This record gives sequence, structure tokens and C-alpha cells, in this order.
Amino acid sequence: MKQQEIRDRLDRGNLRWRRREDEEARLRLLTARQGQEPYAIVIACSDSRVIPEQIFDARLGELFVIRVAGNVLDRHQLGSIEYAAGHLHCRLILMLGHTGCGAVSAALSGGGEGFIQYITDEILLAVGEERDPLRCCEKNVLHGVEILRREFARHPEIPTEELEIRGAVYDIASGEVRWLEE
Ligand SMILES: [Zn+2]
Repeated sequence: MKQQEIRDRLDRGNLRWRRREDEEARLRLLTARQGQEPYAIVIACSDSRVIPEQIFDARLGELFVIRVAGNVLDRHQLGSIEYAAGHLHCRLILMLGHTGCGAVSAALSGGGEGFIQYITDEILLAVGEERDPLRCCEKNVLHGVEILRREFARHPEIPTEELEIRGAVYDIASGEVRWLEE
């Protein structure tokens, strides 16, 4: 696809969005006026097949989503989570990994180069000696859960006892979200 075609496609999509007159359009105006009250924070991969709002059939204003390849955490992500938990009062943080993750595969095949290495290094740290892709995906999720629990164990603006931090894996073929046991 040429650049012009891509821009046209984006513009046509945006026009369809602006012209909608359904529940979503009503919610757009309502949340613009009243602000957002998302009930959950979801940290997911940037993979184009992993769209939390679609996976959970959620609407505008319901989920506070952070997406980054390999669903890894760094200070920018932690800052976003802190904002949503502390100021928007989200009480559930879900770290969502997925099957067929390219970032996990890249880490397992020796890691990436350039900026990607920041991501694959973090995944390699999470998986240790494990090499089974699904198990690695789970370990990467649990590593993130561990970081979140550690970082938000004591926080002046977030009531830790009310905050649930969980991990899950999304199956890109079946569409199922499987919660990981503690
Ligand atoms: Zn991925």
C-alpha cells in the first residue's frame, strides 16, 4: 500500500467514526463532557491482533490501556499505571500476554538489535532458562505482575489493599483470555 492510500484509508476510517450515530458516538460525547472512569488498567502487547477493547468487548472510557511490544514495563508505563490507579481510581491491573508474540519469539531467538533490545532483554530476564514459547509468555506476564506488585506495594495515593494485580494470556486464535493462577 502506498503512503497516500494509507492516509486515505485512515481518513475514511476517521470519517466513518465521526459520522457514527450509535451508542459509541453517544459515549464519545458523554465521556468528553464528564471525563473518564475506566474500571481496569490493561497492559498488553502492541500486536495488531491484541486489542483489549475488542477482546473484552469494552466501550469508550471503560479500559485504561497501555500497549507496548512484549507487554514489558518501564518507567513510562509505570507512570501511566500510577496515574490510572491513583487519579482515575482503577482497582484492577491486568498484565495481558498473548500466544504467538513476536517479541517473545525475538527474545528466544537471541534477542533483537537497536531499540528492540530493550524489550528482548527484559523478556529474557523474565524467562530465564525456559524455552517453550507459551511458558515463556506466561513467565513474561508473571514477571510484569511481580514488578507491579513490588512497585505499588506501598504508595501514598493508591490504596494497595483495594488494588488487584493479575496476569492473563490471550489466545489469538480462540479469542480466550486465560487468567494465570497465583
Ligand atoms: Zn506480542
